[in-house]
Amino acid sequence: MLDSSFDDHDELGPEKVIQLYDPEVGLKAFVVVDNTAKGAAIGGTRMAPDVSVEECARLARAMTLKNAAAGLTHGGAKSVIAADPKMPIEEKERLMRAFAYAIKDIEDYIPGPDMGTDEVCMAWVKDSNGRAVGLPQAVGGIPLDEIGATGWGLVCALEVAQQSAGITLAGASFVVQGFGSVGQHAARFLVERGANMVAVSDSSGAIVDHSGIDVQALVEFKNQGNSVIDFAEVDRISHEDLVGIETDIWIPAARPDVINDANVDEVKCKIIAQGANIPVSTTAEAILHERGVLCLPDFIANAGGVICASVEYHGGTQTQAMEVIKDKISRNVRAVLTEVERSSCLPREAANLMAKQLVQEAMKYRKTN
Ligand code: NAD
Repeated sequence: MLDSSFDDHDELGPEKVIQLYDPEVGLKAFVVVDNTAKGAAIGGTRMAPDVSVEECARLARAMTLKNAAAGLTHGGAKSVIAADPKMPIEEKERLMRAFAYAIKDIEDYIPGPDMGTDEVCMAWVKDSNGRAVGLPQAVGGIPLDEIGATGWGLVCALEVAQQSAGITLAGASFVVQGFGSVGQHAARFLVERGANMVAVSDSSGAIVDHSGIDVQALVEFKNQGNSVIDFAEVDRISHEDLVGIETDIWIPAARPDVINDANVDEVKCKIIAQGANIPVSTTAEAILHERGVLCLPDFIANAGGVICASVEYHGGTQTQAMEVIKDKISRNVRAVLTEVERSSCLPREAANLMAKQLVQEAMKYRKTN
């Protein structure tokens, strides 16, 4: 039955689900173009050994909602490449160029960096097929990972939400899960506002020090190719223990579903600022809401990267990008919190409604043939 393969489709999309396979270079990838009513779809390219088409579709939907909420003239899409991102650089270039070649005719999809890919990867893609955002400065890009566009947006969201969560950023404690691009910059901007990082993880494990971890020193240590678990004079804990650390702010900045039905009872924070995409399961968000934990939805709080990419695509500057990120994210967080206050709904419900209406409004202007 044709219908059964459309179980995951709804009134917004996805418009296209495409499998890419090139045995010669070992390319196994998926592209999901979720919705293009607002324009060509922007969405990151994720490289990890265990990606799936389902994860790709959920992330593509998050991009549709994120781009619409941010008022961008772009739809949402995502791509995933099943491979180890730590492969030798020559191999990675070959794979990224093969990916770029394979998507060259999917003209309504503009790829950007995501977990496992970076601005160098995007430069290879742009060079191969003429379409990518999140580029290095040398080829006209605003280096969004270098300036910390997403981490900046996350902290702008926290600035607006701090009062509703009953915290003050100056003096607040925070935990970061995934000390990569998003996690490091969010930590840096929070430290600038007087907050204190008490625990952090990467793919190798986690560390805790309630007296505070030196973020700048840890960034340098990590950039020398080390894992956070080898950072001096801190206690190692498991990935799972990180979820239960008592803290004001908890920032997921790695993989989906890290807070789920099985571990949600462990959570002991006041606010979760979702740097990663879909890091908290739907039921876990509802349970946290009941317990008074404020969850800032991913596609509102982590929109900094794609807002920056859009400013880049339309020829803007780095300074403009940082201002636009602050304006758009602050406005959206205020709108979500106002609706939560008014109707006692979940922050995600308020955000979904707001973004969905914007996409559906754009869909009214589409030709049907
Ligand atoms: P990154 O590859 O730079 O960093 C990811 C970090 O997470 C790495 O330190 C890695 O070691 C760590 N990690 C991986 N698996 C982990 C695990 N199971 N537990 C703990 N740590 C783990 O990626 P990034 O660009 O920082 O993106 C992180 C998340 O934020 C992703 O979900 C991505 O989709 C989302 N995001 C990124 C941007 C952006 O601008 N980069 C924008 C919006 C959303």
